[in-house]
Amino acid sequence: MRVVVFGAAGFLGSHLVDRCLSEGYRVVGVDNLCTGASENLAHLVNEPRFDFVEHDICEPFFVEEKVGGVFNLASPASPIVFEVMPVEAMLAGGAGTHHTLGLARRHGARYLLASTSEVYGDPRVHPQPESYWGNVNPVGVRSVYDEAKRYGEALAFAYRRKHGTNAVVARIFNTYGPRMRADDGRVMPNFIVQSLQGEPLTVYGDGTQTRSFCYVDDLVDGLFRLFRSDLAGPVNLGRPDEMTMLELANVIREETGSKVPLVECPLPEEDPARRCPDISLARRELGWNPQVELREGIRKTVEYFRQALRQK
Ligand code: NAD
Ligand code: UDP
Repeated sequence: MRVVVFGAAGFLGSHLVDRCLSEGYRVVGVDNLCTGASENLAHLVNEPRFDFVEHDICEPFFVEEKVGGVFNLASPASPIVFEVMPVEAMLAGGAGTHHTLGLARRHGARYLLASTSEVYGDPRVHPQPESYWGNVNPVGVRSVYDEAKRYGEALAFAYRRKHGTNAVVARIFNTYGPRMRADDGRVMPNFIVQSLQGEPLTVYGDGTQTRSFCYVDDLVDGLFRLFRSDLAGPVNLGRPDEMTMLELANVIREETGSKVPLVECPLPEEDPARRCPDISLARRELGWNPQVELREGIRKTVEYFRQALRQK
């Protein structure tokens, strides 16, 4: 089977490409490289079952040969969205999702949309089940990302109803691991790189806000199981092990053997206070349960950044 992975040069996309190839698929990877990097796919340069196309999903994309699956992970993610690429995020989530759904419709392919826990906004229900509709400020700084993803979810369901497209929505919670960008502004690369470089860890606000972190291999396994299922979703994928940013800072200092201080920085506007997935649905319907413990995942990620910094 041939699958198309949009966002293939990104952090999650490149790991998903690896998984699809290891399952025996042919893969067409598509990316405009706005936040991704061709180095994430460099190991596939001699892989005959992989083709890369540089393309912006805001324009239609056609494949002549039969396509059995479409994964749409193409979107600026991380704080870069709010600060540098707000309009690009809305267009990728809007026109871009439309075009990728169009490709799936044309081929009668299974379609997976990478949505996000951000659709729950600053949640009033905790942990968050899929049945919760969220608490999003439609004109706040984060809305460009949240609303683009909510629009994408609505569009995927519109395609299901109107065209019978076999679409499924994954709601991904905070995920980390090798191939994250050192400078993309998310807390994992920030704290790890700061620790390794002997700089103070930038804790935003008082550090009591919580997140729940899932290692990339587990997350990709969840995406893959979801793709192979006949669910429509939305389905939460994440590791329900909630912690504060202060706790995370201490774990990273311990795992890097660093004694750097913490420095309190301003809390970003509308930063969600708590976030933790309810993954009962994925456990029950997909038999999926994240396996990698936080410290084990952090060790692998620290090793990745150590090497990346050495090569700079
Ligand atoms: P990433 O920035 O590493 O990957 C996104 C990729 O999409 C990049 O390679 C980028 O160049 C590409 N892209 C962006 N706009 C595009 C466009 N218009 N046309 C073609 N390619 C485009 O981020 P990631 O963390 O790997 O995220 C992948 C997907 O998963 C995103 O859709 C993101 O919203 C979603 N997600 C990620 C997380 C997480 O914790 N990593 C959490 C929730 C949702
Ligand atoms: N954060 C932090 N220091 C940093 C970067 C982020 O304390 O250097 C905090 C941020 O305010 C948020 C949490 O870490 O509360 C997770 O941020 P990230 O951008 O990784 O993900 P998201 O906010 O999208 O969940």
